[in-house]
Amino acid sequence: MAKVVHIKTFGCQMNERDSEIMGQLLSQNGYVYSDMPEAADLILVNTCSIRDKAEQKVYSLLGQLRELKEKNRHFRQIRIGVCGCVAQQEGRKIIERMPHVDLVLGTQQLYQLPALLDQLEKGELHHKVALDLDANFAIPPFQQLLRETPTQKSSAVARPVQRYVNIMQGCNNFCSYCVVPYTRGREISRPLADILEEVELLVAQGVREITLLGQNVNSYGKTNRVADQAITFPDLLRAVALVQGLKRLRFTTSHPKDLDRGLIRCFAELEVLCPHFHLPVQSGSNQVLARMNRGYSAEEYLAKVEELRRMRPDIALATDFIVGFPGESEQDFVATIQLLQDVRFHSSFSFKYSDRPQARSTGFADKIAEDIKSERLARLQQKQTEISLAWNIMLMHKKVEILVEHISAQTGRGRSAANQVVHFQLQPGRSMPAVGDITHVLIEHAGPHSLRGIAQ
Ligand code: SF4
Repeated sequence: MAKVVHIKTFGCQMNERDSEIMGQLLSQNGYVYSDMPEAADLILVNTCSIRDKAEQKVYSLLGQLRELKEKNRHFRQIRIGVCGCVAQQEGRKIIERMPHVDLVLGTQQLYQLPALLDQLEKGELHHKVALDLDANFAIPPFQQLLRETPTQKSSAVARPVQRYVNIMQGCNNFCSYCVVPYTRGREISRPLADILEEVELLVAQGVREITLLGQNVNSYGKTNRVADQAITFPDLLRAVALVQGLKRLRFTTSHPKDLDRGLIRCFAELEVLCPHFHLPVQSGSNQVLARMNRGYSAEEYLAKVEELRRMRPDIALATDFIVGFPGESEQDFVATIQLLQDVRFHSSFSFKYSDRPQARSTGFADKIAEDIKSERLARLQQKQTEISLAWNIMLMHKKVEILVEHISAQTGRGRSAANQVVHFQLQPGRSMPAVGDITHVLIEHAGPHSLRGIAQ
C-alpha cells in the first residue's frame, strides 16, 4: 500500500520549491501526497529561520506532531522530518529537544531523502541528521526530477499555470543580520541548459508564468563552479524569454548592489518580462545600510530606481524593510520613511529586526526596545498602505490585463503583470475564462492590497 506524505512549508518561495522537489522525489518512491497530517505516514516540516518568530512556529508545530505521533503509535508508525534552514542551523539540537523527530535534513540534502527514509525503514537508523553543506555541491540535473508526476499533489498543483524554477542556491553577501549564507551555503548556479530544459517542459505542460528563484539572482553565473562560466543573469533572462508559449517571466530575489545596466535593459526590451521588480532596500539610512553590510547607499539605490523608471516607466517596484536594526535612531527611521515616499513602492514586506544565530548583528550593542520597533513598524506599514492604495486607485475604470489563476462559478481571481491581485465577476451571458488565460478586467474597486472588477 502506498505511503502517505504531508509537507508543511514555512517561509519563502525557495522553500516552496524545495517542498515540491521533495514531494516529487517521494512520489517516485511510491508516496502519495495528503493535505491532512493526520492521514500521513511521513510528515515533513520545511522550515525558515529568517526571523526568530519563524523558528518559534516550527517548535510549536513539532510539539503538536508529538501528540499526533503518540496517539497513533499503536496503529502506525508516523515518521517526522525537519528540513530547511532551521534544520541546517539547529541540526542535532532539534532531536535532543524533540526526540520524536526521526530525520533532520539540511538544505543541500533534499535529494538524499528517499535513501535516508529507506535506512530508517530498514531500522538501520533510529534518527538521522544530514547537514553537509558542500561548497562544491551541484544542484542535480533537472531530468532526475521528472517534474510533476500525476499523483503528486503539492503547492505546484495549487498554481497550475505558474511555476518556480530554481536557478541558483546560496548567498555570498553576508548581510550582517542574515542567516542565509550559513544555512544555504555559497552561491551555486545551475547550468543554463538545465534551466532551459525545465522551462521548456513546463511550458509544454501548460505553464504560462515562470518565476526564476535564487537568494541573489543578479549574481547568477558569477561564482559558478559549473560549466557555463560566461553566462550572466541578463543572458539567462534573454534565453528563457525565447521559450515559445511562455506568457510571463518573473524572478526573485535581487540585490541592489548587483543591479546593472544589462538587467535594467531587460525590463525595457523583453516583452514577457513582467514590469514588476522586487528590490529589497531594507533601510533608507546610510548609517544603518553600512552596519547591515548591504554594499550600497540610499542615494545609489535611488539612482538605480530612477534609471529603471527611465527605461521602463510602468515598472511596479516592491521591496523589503527591516525596522529597529541595532543602533537605528529616530532620524535613521525617518530616512527610511523618506525613501519609501521618494520611491513610492507599489508594495513592501516589512519586519521588526530580530537576532539570528551566527549573524554578526546579533553581537551588536544598542538593540532597540520591542515597543519602539513595533511603533516604527506600524508607522511604516501605514505609509505603505496609503501609497499602495494610491497606485491602485489610478487603475479605477481602466482595463487591466490579468493571468487567470483561479475560477469558480461566477467569479475568478488573477494577477496583473505588476503583480496586483485582481478579483473579477463575469458580465451576464459571458463565459468564464479558463485558468491560464490572459484576459482583461474593468476595475471598479481599488483597495490597498487588491483590485476588483468585471471581466471583459
Ligand atoms: S543578500 Fe543578504 S539578506 Fe539576502 S540572502 Fe544574502 S545575506 Fe541574506
